[in-house]
Amino acid sequence: MSTPSILILPGDGIGPEVMAEVVKVIDWFGDKRGLKFDVSHDLVGGAAYDKHGAPISDETMEKAQSVDAVLLGAVGGPKYDDLDFSVKPERGLLRLRKEMDLFANLRPAQCFDALADFSSLKKDIVAGLDIMIVRELTSGIYFGEPRGIFTENNERVGINTQRYTESEIERAARAAFELAMKRDKRLCSMEKANVMESGILWRDVVNEVAVDYPEVEVSHMYADNGAMQLVRAPKQFDVIVTDNLFGDILSDCAAMLTGSLGMLPSASLGLPMANGRPKAMYEPVHGSAPDIAGQGKANPIACVLSFAMALRYSFDQGDEATRLETAIETVLAGGARTADLLGEEGVTAISTTEMGDKIIEA
Ligand code: ATP
Ligand code: MG
Repeated sequence: MSTPSILILPGDGIGPEVMAEVVKVIDWFGDKRGLKFDVSHDLVGGAAYDKHGAPISDETMEKAQSVDAVLLGAVGGPKYDDLDFSVKPERGLLRLRKEMDLFANLRPAQCFDALADFSSLKKDIVAGLDIMIVRELTSGIYFGEPRGIFTENNERVGINTQRYTESEIERAARAAFELAMKRDKRLCSMEKANVMESGILWRDVVNEVAVDYPEVEVSHMYADNGAMQLVRAPKQFDVIVTDNLFGDILSDCAAMLTGSLGMLPSASLGLPMANGRPKAMYEPVHGSAPDIAGQGKANPIACVLSFAMALRYSFDQGDEATRLETAIETVLAGGARTADLLGEEGVTAISTTEMGDKIIEA
């Protein structure tokens, strides 16, 4: 097979700072593990707007469609707040997701032991936590028609439509079952089949897909109960699959079980390409963090963990992904903290580059 290709889109704010550490990690894998990647760099977001007058150029979009994985930093910043909606930095990200048809958004919530005290919840609730939320990303209430603010009987009415086709549910469910097979073989599907037609269909289709995965233990939960259970006893879950709206809320909820925004990676996957790899984009959950940009304070771990997800889900290098995650665990256990992870008395923060160096050393 040809050398796997990666397109790096650092973007704005802290994006380039955290991505620089990922580049060091990619180079390390090439030098020390013989894992070579064909890496190219390009612009997205405000950086692309400054150069091309658009948040992503057609050429960049074409490159993104042709590589094995896109790594994205973050987009946006106060400099671009007054731009017209059509050229806002965030539109670059939306165009990538839409045109690559990235329908499965993977958001792990993993609690590193060294940070269990730092989490917003009690240590025994989160220590050892390792769950994966799969959120359907391209359909549902954020896209369904009709939508808009209309006038009816002399008053305004705001309308959104929750709409899911069988095939949309099926491909998201299949992605979640595939993940469950690689993990603890447990899958919980969340919807509101008690009050929503789309929820009834969702549950039906998940059960139909389940027939192809007899080893996976399947459960169903109403999403409101799911939210409660995520906070009360999150370790009961392995993989959760849910729709776009519920996934938006539940994944943020799960995220905060683990501590800082600076620790959270994500993957967005689409259909398999000709070489069998899925269309894929990996990015930290955090934004461009203009308040700390350019100060060397950003935590690069979310972005490095996003590359670990690329190793696992695009390049079939699960052992190397674990190697990288273990290095991060080791560094944290050794007491290294970027500013966002400070809490303990007497600990001083290290910089973005120092954190990257320590991960490589480990
Ligand atoms: P967006 O709208 O782009 O999602 P946001 O407004 O949600 O952005 P972020 O840019 O993610 O916000 O930042 C939220 C807060 O978290 C800020 O105070 C920021 O400094 C902090 N933060 C975000 N990412 C990191 C990181 N990698 N390291 C340290 N602090 C971070
Ligand atoms: Mg945000």
